[in-house]
Amino acid sequence: MERRKVTFKLYPNAREAERLTGWVRLHCELYNAALHERIDAYRKFGLSIGYYEQQNVLPEIKAARPEFVELGSHALQQTLRKLDLAFQAFFRRVKAGQTPGFPRFKSHRRFAGFCYPDTAGWKLLQLGGRGATLRIGSGKHAMSIRARGKHRFGDGAKPNDLTITRVGDEWFASVTLRVSAHACAKVRTGEAHRGVDFGVNDWATFDNGETIENPRFVRKELPKLAALQRAQARKKKGSIRYKRLGAAVATLHEKISNMRKDFLHKKTTQMVRESVVLATEELRTKNMTRSAKGSIEEPGKRVKQKAGLNREILSAGLAMAHNMLSDKAVEAGTRLHIANTRKLKPSQRCAKCWAVVPKTLAQRTHVCLCGHVAPRDQNAASVVLIDAHTPGTGVAARPKPLPRPRRGTQRSKTRETPTTAAQAV
Ligand SMILES: [Zn+2]
Repeated sequence: MERRKVTFKLYPNAREAERLTGWVRLHCELYNAALHERIDAYRKFGLSIGYYEQQNVLPEIKAARPEFVELGSHALQQTLRKLDLAFQAFFRRVKAGQTPGFPRFKSHRRFAGFCYPDTAGWKLLQLGGRGATLRIGSGKHAMSIRARGKHRFGDGAKPNDLTITRVGDEWFASVTLRVSAHACAKVRTGEAHRGVDFGVNDWATFDNGETIENPRFVRKELPKLAALQRAQARKKKGSIRYKRLGAAVATLHEKISNMRKDFLHKKTTQMVRESVVLATEELRTKNMTRSAKGSIEEPGKRVKQKAGLNREILSAGLAMAHNMLSDKAVEAGTRLHIANTRKLKPSQRCAKCWAVVPKTLAQRTHVCLCGHVAPRDQNAASVVLIDAHTPGTGVAARPKPLPRPRRGTQRSKTRETPTTAAQAV
């Protein structure tokens, strides 16, 4: 059994949304009250109250405040547990000599949501119609909230827990499912062996020279975001206009993040489906960002807008892409090879003769003494692919670093490909 999390957007009607909002308020109230109790007990009596003491009071609370009953006891416990985790994290960091912030009281507007740790009190239905339905609450007061889409794991998937979150005015339901390995397997459509290099100019370059362009948000939405942020910087901090622009920035960030996720999911799925072996290198966020400047011959466009945003947005996207690739590779039975960047130096090494050809980031073409000429990123993609076919290399295949080999002994043994040829020359 595997675990998969699926997130549905919910479409509650006005009355349902109001009820959900009320539930979030109650959970928030409980959280704050529990926090207050802990602080009070410590200040007045020097007592520290733990999770279980607080959990044991829940029945009394429900007796005094019947509106808490319909939230479900396990969901209420979960909110107390959330507070407990906040305290544990706080004390752990104090112990480690850091200076963490004390757990805070939360505004119900910012309270993220609530969680059902098991299947009591809700049900996910995927019957006819377009999307799933979330049935939540108990008895005749239960609500059936429409959700967008259905999950792909079929009837055999067993729901495990549910988290309801609110982002702005939108509601989401995240459900953890237990599914058979068979049900989450991805169908592989190709048998390719591919190396891929991620970059700023093109999002991805393959060893055969194919490229995937940067997604639309990089061209269209990022400049908008920069303009909004500049406009906000001109307003007085805390003013109504400042806040309004802040909200606009947040909305756009959300939009960009959705576009990025959509793009990454589609591309990584495609890459994994088409190949048996997929090779890339470790993340190196530092190198990623500098080439916005371009070179003298080919100066970058909108360098300033790009520099700061690129760093933030593209590097975040790359980490996400790497994670998606490793998850999806398992599902598709694709071998994902992550080359050791520092040892291999894919952007410097020649894919033909394996010699190291130093170049600056501005140099977009690999030109080697052996006569091999290729676009820089394509050459790097070829190098990582060769590395993938070389036994004993890569970092993903080998989570713990092996003891360091003695100089000169190991290298000639493991490399059957171009290295030995290069050393012989
Ligand atoms: Zn060469």
